[in-house]
Amino acid sequence: MPNAHTVKSHSDPARMHTPDQALVDLVLAYVTERLALEETPIDGFGDRVEMQEALEGLISNEPKDPAEVLGIYEKYLSETVLSADSPRFFGFIPAAPTKASLLFDMVVSAASLQGCSWLEAAGAVMAENQALRTMADIAGMPQSAGGTFVSGGSAGNLSALVVARDTARAQRKAHGQPLYPLQVVVSDQAHSSIQNALNIVDMGAIVVPTADGRMTRNDLELGLVGQDLSNVVAIIATAGTTNAGIIDQLDAAADVAEKNGWWFHVDGAYGGAGMLDPEKRAMYQGIERVDSLVMDPHKWWFAPFDSAALLYRDPHLAKGVHTQDASYLDVIHTSDLTEFNPSDLAYHLTRRARGMALWFSLAVNGLDAYRDAVVAGNQMARYAAEQIKSNPNLELIHEPDLSVVLFRRQGWTAKNYDKWSTDLLDQQVAFVTSTSWRGETVGRLVFLHPGTTSTMVDEVLAELN
Ligand SMILES: *Cc1c(COP(=O)(O)O)cnc(C)c1O
Repeated sequence: MPNAHTVKSHSDPARMHTPDQALVDLVLAYVTERLALEETPIDGFGDRVEMQEALEGLISNEPKDPAEVLGIYEKYLSETVLSADSPRFFGFIPAAPTKASLLFDMVVSAASLQGCSWLEAAGAVMAENQALRTMADIAGMPQSAGGTFVSGGSAGNLSALVVARDTARAQRKAHGQPLYPLQVVVSDQAHSSIQNALNIVDMGAIVVPTADGRMTRNDLELGLVGQDLSNVVAIIATAGTTNAGIIDQLDAAADVAEKNGWWFHVDGAYGGAGMLDPEKRAMYQGIERVDSLVMDPHKWWFAPFDSAALLYRDPHLAKGVHTQDASYLDVIHTSDLTEFNPSDLAYHLTRRARGMALWFSLAVNGLDAYRDAVVAGNQMARYAAEQIKSNPNLELIHEPDLSVVLFRRQGWTAKNYDKWSTDLLDQQVAFVTSTSWRGETVGRLVFLHPGTTSTMVDEVLAELN
């Protein structure tokens, strides 16, 4: 028997598709090594010229040795991608995918698992729906709830706002009310993706100023009094602001939505997972009343990029808005299927079954492990907050709701924070970024990886003295 190598010929059009054990071994060896790391290196920034030279001529008409190409990736590219999954990554919003989720993501790739429709991918849809149901139960959403996984919180917020808009338009049309312009109510702390989504869907915003970063009942009353609300169709609250980890008063937002007949959307892209912490659960009171909810598995649900869960109270409304009509798609829509097609619930069609990595990991690890990992992040934030309060050079800006800590270093300007960040990265001690709070540049630390230790935090704070 000739092996797969010897039958490969330079003219065989299927030569890229024949099994190649050597290639499998090569790549799996790399993956195995990476997954065996106790702590992924933070790595750093890229030098364009150096990378350009390394890549020069790599893609040509002729094949290249896979070991050579992988070697170039390892040597010149891999280290210029910051490891958001390092337990020393405290900037932006880190990532911390579980081993099980990373490995199953490889299964999703190796088996080309798509999750467009029930007809094409019933098993994948079942698994993803089980993960979505788990999240909906945690939020206390009704049995009617359902949704899909999209690429990220931005895509989730956009898809939800389209449904909010078109559902409102249908009602307004029936009542002879104007269809343009439409508006939503948001707080001054809403994520930038909300503004982008509003631009795309051509809706305006009534921005509610917050006294202290949290949209409270009082902020809502003050922010809405005297405003013309006749064109408002939705209110958006944030469960864990990206900048400060603050949870809006969700029941207050739900009350306002209910009273006015508005859509209630909660952006929990980062902070939704905080519900898993029993001590924090009460702060999410009202989240069960959402019309739509976004939570990113690739953030605090410990799944790989790129994955956001988008849940609707009534997925029929989303189906009515997002279903794509094309003759060649009739077959997936006409069969009498009780399950929704994931493709019909957001702005997408072809989609990777990107919820399955989360599904596998939830099943393999169990929810208690998720709870403990989320609690660890919140506790590390508490630890950092206490250290900051006991340091006379530092000032805590806000008691952390969740796992984001904002602080001020006396006498520092943006330049000092930049240097703090660069020095820590140069020493591979940590990746940190500053932010702005009420117009001032301040320090910010986000804890998400359960492998982060108090010693790592001490090392970061020591650089502030
Ligand atoms: C991260 C984040 C988003 C955007 O999510 P992506 O997955 O980056 O698209 C939206 N809202 C909040 C609150 C976030 O933290």
